[in-house]
Amino acid sequence: MMTKPSPRKMSHGVLLLGVLLGLVSCASVPTESAEAALQRANIAMGASALRSISYAASGTGATFGQAFVAGMAWPRITLSSFSRVADYENAAFREDAARSRAEPNGGGAIPLMGQGEQRTTGMLRAGHAWNMVGPAPVPAPLAVDARTHDLWTTPHGVIKAALANKPTLRQRTEEGRNLSAISFSLPGRFQATALIGPNGLIERIESVQPHPVLGDTASVITFSDYQDFGGVKFPMRIRQTQGGFPVLDLAVNEVKTNIATGIEVPALVPAFAERAVAEKAADGVWFLAGGSHNSVAIEQKDHMLLVEAPLYDGRSSVVLAEAKRLGNGKPVRFVINSHHHFDHSGGLRTAAAEGATLVTSELARPFFEKTMANPNRIKPDALERSGKRVTVTGVNGKRTFTDGERVVEVFYIDASVHAQGFLMVYLPKERILIQADAYTPAAPGAAAPARPNDLHLNLVQNIERLNLQVAQILPLHGRMVPYSELLAAIGRKG
Ligand SMILES: [Zn+2]
Repeated sequence: MMTKPSPRKMSHGVLLLGVLLGLVSCASVPTESAEAALQRANIAMGASALRSISYAASGTGATFGQAFVAGMAWPRITLSSFSRVADYENAAFREDAARSRAEPNGGGAIPLMGQGEQRTTGMLRAGHAWNMVGPAPVPAPLAVDARTHDLWTTPHGVIKAALANKPTLRQRTEEGRNLSAISFSLPGRFQATALIGPNGLIERIESVQPHPVLGDTASVITFSDYQDFGGVKFPMRIRQTQGGFPVLDLAVNEVKTNIATGIEVPALVPAFAERAVAEKAADGVWFLAGGSHNSVAIEQKDHMLLVEAPLYDGRSSVVLAEAKRLGNGKPVRFVINSHHHFDHSGGLRTAAAEGATLVTSELARPFFEKTMANPNRIKPDALERSGKRVTVTGVNGKRTFTDGERVVEVFYIDASVHAQGFLMVYLPKERILIQADAYTPAAPGAAAPARPNDLHLNLVQNIERLNLQVAQILPLHGRMVPYSELLAAIGRKG
C-alpha cells in the first residue's frame, strides 16, 4: 500500500537522504564499480596480457551424472594426470585426462575397478565441441555448454568474460573478510558470480549452467594456494562441486602462459547433424542407431513405446520423430529409461514435453520427479517451453506392458555394479533383449577377453535367473547381435 506523502513529510525524507549521503561521503567509504574491481583483479592476476594458459595437475575427480544410486554423489575417480588449455583469443579449450575408478560402483566408460585407466581428450572452439578418439575427432554437441563454462570459469577467463558481459557488483562479507562479488551472464550458456578477495585474486566462482537432466545446475569452483608464474598468478589447488557433489580436487604441478594452442575445428564437426537410422529387428520393432546411443521403437495397437531417450533434446527429438514416423503417426505414449545415468536419461525431458509417460525404476522415480520439476531457464529446453507436468511411473522388479497382442516385459538387472535400479526390456515372443551398458558388443570377429567382464557375467546371470529365452540382443551402445556373441564374450559356446 502506498500513501501519498505530504509535502512536509517528503521534505523530511529528502533531508534525511541528504544527511545519509553526506555521512557516507564524509566517511569516504569508496564504492568500487564492477569494472574497477575487475581491473584490480586484472592487475593482481596478470590477466590483461594473458592470451592463453595451460595447466597440468593430478588429483581426484568424479564421473558427473554416473551415480550408482539416483540422487547420490557422483562416483569418485583418480586422475593420474589432468590438463587444461584455455585459449581466450580464440574461445578455444582442451582437456586431457587419465582416469581410473576410485570406487567399484557406478557408471561411466571407465574400465572396471582395478582394470586400468581411460584416457580422454575433449576440445572446443567457437561454439563447436568434439572429442578425440585416438586420432579421430568425434563431434560432441552435448559438451558445448559445459566446455564453454569450463573455459570462462578458469581463474583468468572469468575476469575476461565478466568484463565483456555487463558485470554487476555486490559486496559480501565472509568470516570478517570483504569480498567483491562480480556477477555476469553468458546468455544461453551460464551465469556466474566471481568472488574477488582484498588482494585482487579470484577466490571462488559460483555458477549455474543448463543441463538436460538436472535443469539449471549449480557449480562452485574454489581457487587457493596462488603462485606467481612470471607475473601471472595461478592457484595450485582447484576444487569444484557440481549439482551439489564434488567433481574435482586438483593439485596443479605445471603452468604455462601465452602458448600457441593450435586448436582448430575439424571440418566434420560443424557439418554434424543428429540422425536416427532405423533397422528392423522384428515386425513392429526397430533398432534406432546412427549415434553413440541407440533407442528401440516398439509398435503397439494405438501407440508407440520407446526404449531410451538419451543424451539431450537434439538427439531425442530426432529419435522421437523417427519412432512416430515408423508407427505412421501413432503417438509415443511410454518411454522406458534403462537407468538414471545422464547420458541415458538426457532426453526424458524431451519425451515428457511430447506427452510421454516416463517409465523408470522405482528407485529412480523420486529423483526424476524432482528433476523434471526443475527449471531450465538459462537455456530453455522443450519441457521448459512446454510448461507441461510430467508423469513418472516406477518399475519395482518387473512390469509388463501389452496391447493384448505384443508383450513387453521390463525387469531389474539385479546386483550390477553399474547402477541400482538398472532395467532391461524383454520381448518374449520375439525373443529380443534390450539393455544398456551391461553389454556393449566388441568389434565383429574380436577375440573374447582373457578374463570375462563382470558386467557381462552379471547380465547372463540375470537372463538365466529369469529364464529368458533370448535369441537377439539390441544393445543401447553398438550393434545388434545374436545372444551367442554375449555367451562367447564370457567364454561359453553359444
Ligand atoms: Zn550407465
